[in-house]
Amino acid sequence: MFLNCGQLLPPLLRHADVPARITESFILSGYRFPNYSLAQCLLSAFQPTNETGNFWTHFLPVFIFAFYFLEPFGLEGAPPTSDPFFYPLWNYFMGVLCLLMASSMAHLLNSMSLVIREVCFFVDYGTISAYTVGSSLAYYYYIHPRAGILELGIGRHNNTHQDPSLSSSSLSSAMPEFSVFFETLYIPSSCLVAIICVLACCNTRQRWRTYRYIIRTLVFLLPFLVASTPIFYRLLHSSPYLPTSSSFSSSASMAQFFCRHCFWLVVSALFNISKIPERLSPGRFDIWGHSHQWFHVCTFLSILDELHMINGEVRAILLHPVLVVPPATPPHLPGPTLSSTYGVMLVLQASIASIIAWFSWCANSIYKPQGDQLEKEFLSKRHLKCH
Ligand SMILES: [Zn+2]
Repeated sequence: MFLNCGQLLPPLLRHADVPARITESFILSGYRFPNYSLAQCLLSAFQPTNETGNFWTHFLPVFIFAFYFLEPFGLEGAPPTSDPFFYPLWNYFMGVLCLLMASSMAHLLNSMSLVIREVCFFVDYGTISAYTVGSSLAYYYYIHPRAGILELGIGRHNNTHQDPSLSSSSLSSAMPEFSVFFETLYIPSSCLVAIICVLACCNTRQRWRTYRYIIRTLVFLLPFLVASTPIFYRLLHSSPYLPTSSSFSSSASMAQFFCRHCFWLVVSALFNISKIPERLSPGRFDIWGHSHQWFHVCTFLSILDELHMINGEVRAILLHPVLVVPPATPPHLPGPTLSSTYGVMLVLQASIASIIAWFSWCANSIYKPQGDQLEKEFLSKRHLKCH
């Protein structure tokens, strides 16, 4: 009753007709058997399956994100797009782009086989972790307590005098005991936590299955806490600039966007753990409106507010080059370099890729024989039903 031979795409199946491995809690129908070809997977983006909404809720945001991302490049006084000043922003962009693309593609292509399904979600976890490090780089260079005195290479003519809104004493008091953490440990900590997250999340696909949603959610709270330390610091301590500075209003809008960023993260976590609304009415939200789609929407809204927050800080720095102060006064923040931005991301991505390769190799040895057997049973069942 589920199969209709001769169609371009096989009809969708109920949860009892697919391997238990691919079923989702409280989702009863709309499943694809994990034997689709690549072309069928791509085509299924336009077929209402229980993954269609998951695909579109992270694919369409790519374009919305790209639109808002370009904003700072058009600002008056902005250096060229290839200027080192923008290196952290480009790394952040790549982090988000990879996250959204990997997530949407994981949902679209996971019905090719049981093994490919595992690999898809390993890559998904890997890109989420890489994104958190992309955020950390942007926070470090644009939201760092001393980001406003970053050497831009513009407004150098002001180097002979200090901006009246800057106070040397307030600058030094802005960097007390946390300075060691910010200067030397912040980016390495973000990378380390990202790697721990990939390891933990990949593990939830092979063990700790019962608590997988809680573990995956909690595990991603840790990088959020580490990455956000410059923001917590800026919000809890007075700005290094006097309140008359325009950075005062920039801090206010930063607080607003950061609160919204946190709000969307909390809501997305609640959807991911609670499995509401499908838990309340199993079968009713199989195709549209189930928790994972809301989870995607909320995570994207949190990213969008994060982007607005970063853009606001970039704008504050660019529009006020007089904030560039002589290096002799307070120690200035070292500017971004190729190795401190792209280099960090490259090393991190290579480490994550090795972890994914290891878990994929394990998944292949576990699920390949199972998948072959299940497909044989499935095809013989279909043969019987077609004749
Ligand atoms: Zn997803």
